[in-house]
Amino acid sequence: MLALVTGASRGIGRAIALALGRNGYDVAVNYNHSEAEAVVLCDEIRALGVKSGTFQADVSVQEEASRLFAEVKASMGAVSILVNNAGITRDNLLMRMKPEEWQAVINANLNSCFYCTREAIRDMAKARYGRIINIASVVGLTGNAGQSNYSASKAGIIGFTKSAAREYASRGITANAIAPGFIDTSMTEVLKPEIKADILRGIPAGTIGKPEDVAEAVVFFAGDKSRYITGQVLAVDGGMTMC
Ligand code: NAP
Repeated sequence: MLALVTGASRGIGRAIALALGRNGYDVAVNYNHSEAEAVVLCDEIRALGVKSGTFQADVSVQEEASRLFAEVKASMGAVSILVNNAGITRDNLLMRMKPEEWQAVINANLNSCFYCTREAIRDMAKARYGRIINIASVVGLTGNAGQSNYSASKAGIIGFTKSAAREYASRGITANAIAPGFIDTSMTEVLKPEIKADILRGIPAGTIGKPEDVAEAVVFFAGDKSRYITGQVLAVDGGMTMC
């Protein structure tokens, strides 16, 4: 069974792609800029005994998302499991936020999710089987000062996930979202130490999460054990939100 992970070259996407490979799925690795990292990852996945390929595409652009699916289908077959993971931040206080910062985040995080899911859903419906797994964020549930663009994109992903779940539940397709909390990747590396310390104080588990923590939740939603679960949001956040 083929899984496609968007933004798989680094961070959480990388861990997801590896975990899926370890669990016997073939994995299409999408990247935008980090080609070298994607190639290394692809070799690591192949070494697990499953098929893997790298596919460059900026999924925030509709035509590129469309090309991505055509290329994946031609070389690896139809996608059964789609993980919409690609994402960026462009933090700023609302008053200072430039329309370009707003647009870039909505395009990369939310629009990419729509473009890729729309590409994937036809084959899934035909097969009467599919798994859509969208990587949202706890701030899509709670909001966050300085992240109005990012929070709106993640809240949008949650609404989108629930709508897709309702539309396709009868065709054997589940759609679920995962809301990571504070996970150790380059996205969070850039935060100032005092901000990190402040976030850490709000995490009951007392530690920052690992990309692998998110990846294990994806494996659950990808498999048959979650067949009767759809339209849900699972926070992987050490107890940060509990809502
Ligand atoms: P990261 O380390 O910055 O990695 C981002 C990945 O997304 C990279 O592989 C990058 O690819 C890819 N990407 C970005 N824009 C893309 C585009 N337009 N087309 C294709 N690929 C694109 O971030 P991360 O922390 O792993 O985040 C992964 C996801 O988890 C994101 O959706 C993020 O919002 C979400 N999340 C993260 C945290 C956290 O604490 N880290 C918390 C909640 C949610 P290239 O390098 O190849 O360009």
